[in-house]
Amino acid sequence: MAKSSDLQKDGLYKLRHSAAHVMAQAVLEIHPQAKIAIGPPIENGFYYDFDLGQGDDGKPRTFTPEDLEAIEKRMRQVIAGRHPFQYRQVSADEARQLFVDQPYKLELIDGLAQGGIDEYGNESEEAPVISTYKHDTFEDLCRGPHLEHTGQIPADAFKLMTVAGAYWRGDEANPMLQRVYGTAWPNKKELQAYLHMLEEAKKRDHRKLGKELEIFIFDDEVGPGLPLWLPNGGILIEELENLAKEMEEQAGYQRVRTPHLTKEALFQRSGHLPYYAESMYPPMELEGVRYYMKPMNCPFHHKIFGAKPRSYRDLPVRLAEYGTCYRYEKSGELLGLLRVRSMQMNDAHIYCSEAQFEAEFMAVVAMYRAYFDLFGIERYVMRLSTHSAKGLGKKYVDNQRLWLKTEAMVRNAMLNGGVPFVEVPDEAAFYGPKIDVQIWSAIGREFTLATNQVDFAVPERFDLHFVNAEGHDETPLCIHRAPLSTHERMIGFLIEHYAGAFPVWLAPEQVRVIPITDGHAEYASQVAAQLKAAGIRGAADLGSERMNAKIRNAQLMKVPYMLVVGDQEMANHTVSLRRRDGSGQNRDSVPVADFIAATVERIRTRSSEL
Ligand SMILES: [Zn+2]
Ligand SMILES: [Zn+2]
Repeated sequence: MAKSSDLQKDGLYKLRHSAAHVMAQAVLEIHPQAKIAIGPPIENGFYYDFDLGQGDDGKPRTFTPEDLEAIEKRMRQVIAGRHPFQYRQVSADEARQLFVDQPYKLELIDGLAQGGIDEYGNESEEAPVISTYKHDTFEDLCRGPHLEHTGQIPADAFKLMTVAGAYWRGDEANPMLQRVYGTAWPNKKELQAYLHMLEEAKKRDHRKLGKELEIFIFDDEVGPGLPLWLPNGGILIEELENLAKEMEEQAGYQRVRTPHLTKEALFQRSGHLPYYAESMYPPMELEGVRYYMKPMNCPFHHKIFGAKPRSYRDLPVRLAEYGTCYRYEKSGELLGLLRVRSMQMNDAHIYCSEAQFEAEFMAVVAMYRAYFDLFGIERYVMRLSTHSAKGLGKKYVDNQRLWLKTEAMVRNAMLNGGVPFVEVPDEAAFYGPKIDVQIWSAIGREFTLATNQVDFAVPERFDLHFVNAEGHDETPLCIHRAPLSTHERMIGFLIEHYAGAFPVWLAPEQVRVIPITDGHAEYASQVAAQLKAAGIRGAADLGSERMNAKIRNAQLMKVPYMLVVGDQEMANHTVSLRRRDGSGQNRDSVPVADFIAATVERIRTRSSEL
C-alpha cells in the first residue's frame, strides 16, 4: 500500500497500480487456479500476492523465472489492447458473487462490508464503499485511482523483478503467499536508470563492503543482529563520536553516561512497557526484582534532569549520550547493520519551555543540515508522523489536546524554517509526534536515517518541572533527537554512500607507505613514523609482495593516499604520491613535511577532497 500520501497524488501511483492489475490478469490467465490477494503500488513499483496452491512436496508453489517472462509477455499484449479501466460500485452481495472463487477477496469484502477496513485489509476511517475496477477480462476489488486505459502503461518501462514469500495479512499463522514484485516507470530511460542504481547498490552493499574492508562481522555464537566491530569499524565509530562531541559541545549540550540495565519500574513509568514492550528483550530477575535491557536512553536522561531543582534560567538543558540500546527485532527483519538488535545511538534530550521550543527545534534541524553538508547528502526529506484519534490510549498517550498542539508547533517550525517535509498520519511515537529523516545516498538509494521526536507526555510522567519566570512549577517539553542515528545505521549508510571510499578524515587507514624494494624499507618506516607523530593513520607495507601488488592491495582497501618511496625519495626526503581514485597528478617528489601539512589540514577541516 502507499505508505506516504505523496505517492497517492503522484501520477506514478496510477501507473504502478494499473500495472499491478494487468499483472494479476496475466497471472490468472497463465495459472487459472491462482487465488489473488492484494496488489498495491509501492515505492518504485508494485506487487501482487498470489496463492498458487501447494506443490507435490507440500510446500507453497511458486513462480519460476520462466513464469515471470511469460507473465511479462502477456502483460505487454494486454497493454497493447488499450483496454479502458472501468469503475463501478457494488453491494457486498454482488462483490461476493463476483469473487466467489477468491477466498482472500471474500475475506476483504467482509471487512469492507463491516467498515473500518480498506481493500488491502488495512484499518481505514473512510466510509465503507465497495467498488471494483475492470479492464479487459480482469476485475479487482479496488478503490482506484487508475489510468484511463492499459495502453497508458509504457510497455518498455516496466519489469517484473522478484518473487518473495509473504504471509496473508502479514500474519505467520496465515498461508504463505507468493508476492511478485515489479517496477514501473514513465519511460524506458527512467527504468534503466533505476535498474542501474540497483546494480550499483549491489556493488556498494554494506554487508559485502563491510567484510572486504574489515569493518564489522556477525558471529553465530554471538547472535543475530549483534555486530562485532573490527578495528577499522572502531576507528569509524571514534571519528563519528568525535564529530558529534564537537558539534554538540558548540551547540551547548552536556554529556552524560547511563547504564544498560534497569529495573522494571522505570520502564513502566516511562511508558515503554505499556507501549513498547514487544520491541524489548525479555526481563531477567535479580534479587527478586525484574530488570530490562534498555531499548532507549530517554528515561535515564529524564532522571538526570529531575535530579535537581531547575529554574527557567537553566533551560534549555541538553543532555547527550552515545548510548547503547537493545531492541528485539524479529530475526527475519534483521538486515546487516541497518536493522540490528544492539545499537549505539547519537542520542540527546533537550528539555525546554514551550516558548523555547521553536528555536531549539530549528537548532536541531540546523545540526542535521550541517551533517548532511559534511557528508555530501544533497537530498533529504523529513516525514512528520502524527497521531490518529483512534489510537489514543492504545498506541498513543491519551491527550488529544496536547497532540494537536505539539503537532502544530512542529509543523509551524518546519514551515517557518523552509524544511522539506511530508506528513504521515498514525505513525507517531507513543509520546508525541515523530520526525523521520529520509536521505538519499550518492546513487539515489533511500535510507531512513534518524528520528527526532517531540515529547509532551513523558516529562509529566516523570514529574519533571522547572520554576518559571512567574515562580510557578511548569513541565518542560522534551525533544529527542539523534541526527547521526545509530553507529550501525549511519556506518551502514556511509559505506554505501561512499562505496567504501571514505573521506580522508574518516578513512580507517589514511596513508600507506610503499617501498619500491627492501632497500627502501627503513625509509618507508621513518616516513610512517612521521605520519603517526602528526596524528595521521598511516603504516608502511613491509610485506614480501612486489610494489605493484602492494599498490593494488592499498587500492582494494580504498586507502586514500599511497606514498611510494625509492632511491630518489630517500635522497631528497620526499615521497611519490598516488591517490586512491587516480584523480589529479600523481606528484613525484613531494616533500614529506608538505604532504603531512596538507593531510593534517584536510583531516582537521573534515574535507571531502582527496
Ligand atoms: Zn486496484
Ligand atoms: Zn529519547
